[in-house]
Amino acid sequence: MTRYSRLRLEALEACKWRGHRMSRFKKLYNTRSKVVGYAVCLDEECYSQVTIDIHPLPNGIEIGGRAVACNCPARNEWRYKDEEDNLE
Ligand SMILES: [Zn+2]
Repeated sequence: MTRYSRLRLEALEACKWRGHRMSRFKKLYNTRSKVVGYAVCLDEECYSQVTIDIHPLPNGIEIGGRAVACNCPARNEWRYKDEEDNLE
């Protein structure tokens, strides 16, 4: 498994946990020294994105973007409902 595909799976898992339904990953840059990919949430009121960078700068991050930081507004209620079920 390449570094890119490992980061892609890790990012998708985090986005799924946030309730997003993500598009396929596309590569923004694909050069020897830099490979950057991104995907967006397919929900019309969301469109949050996630970006992965296999060689981030020293002050950069490998996985970033709104989709891994914020819950999807379209599916928030479902997730909160699940959490309430777990508490009982
Ligand atoms: Zn979303």
